[in-house]
Order: sequence, then C-alpha cells, then structure tokens
Amino acid sequence: MEDCVFCKIVDGKIPSNKVFENDEILAFKDINPAAPIHILVIPKKHIKSINEIENKDEDLIGKIFAVIRDIAKEQGFADEGYRVISNCGINGGQEVPHLHFHIIGGKKLGDKIV
Ligand code: 5GP
Ligand code: ZN
Repeated sequence: MEDCVFCKIVDGKIPSNKVFENDEILAFKDINPAAPIHILVIPKKHIKSINEIENKDEDLIGKIFAVIRDIAKEQGFADEGYRVISNCGINGGQEVPHLHFHIIGGKKLGDKIV
C-alpha cells in the first residue's frame, strides 16, 4: 500500500533494523523502543488491523506466532518472558494501520491491563 510506513519498510524504501525475514513475514526493531526488547512482527502483505484478518489468513497468523516464539528463543528471552501486543483501531491506540505484533521484554513490565 502506497502510503503505509510498514509497506515501505517491507519494500526497503524505509530502512529498518531487521531481526527476521522470510517471504511472508518481517520482524524489525521498533524505532522508539518502549523497553530494552521491542520488536515488531508484521505480515508482508498489507492487512490493516486485526479487524481485517480474513479466514484465509489463518495460516499466516499462525506463522507469525511461530516467528515470535522462535525470535524469543533465538534472542534468549523466551524463558524470562515477554509480552505480545497488537493495538487495534482508535481505542486500541493503533498508530500504524498495518497489522503488527509488538514483542516487548527485557525488563519486568508494569501497567498490566488484563
Ligand atoms: P502502534 O501504536 O500502531 O501499535 O505501533 C506502531 C509502532 O511502530 C510504534 O511503536 C512506533 O514506534 C513504530 N514505528 C513507527 N514508524 C516506524 C518506523 O519507521 N520504523 C520503525 N522501526 N518503527 C516505527
Ligand atoms: Zn502496509
């Protein structure tokens, strides 16, 4: 999608600090980290938010969580724990309208909402 920041990152038009990439999924470090570990995992194809996930995307979403699991293991923070967040829409505080999953960790996280 033309005006989408994350599509531009996928296309290499905006540089990013990549953590993982395959043909469907990209993971990169958040530009404004909220914690010592803050990685964003996105589908390469433009899906606006959780609301726009289609049933045919279920494999892709499952693969995203497998990537999250592998990143946590490979980067050595799986055992200490972390949080995965996907903000959706206005009340969710979503700023970038391209589906993404924040992996946040590296410290004991506060402000637990649920
Ligand atoms: P949201 O608020 O939509 O859930 O999260 C968007 C996240 O994307 C924010 O944490 C923000 O720091 C990050 N972000 C926005 N623009 C860029 C960018 O150009 N590069 C990277 N690496 N992260 C970005
Ligand atoms: Zn996009």
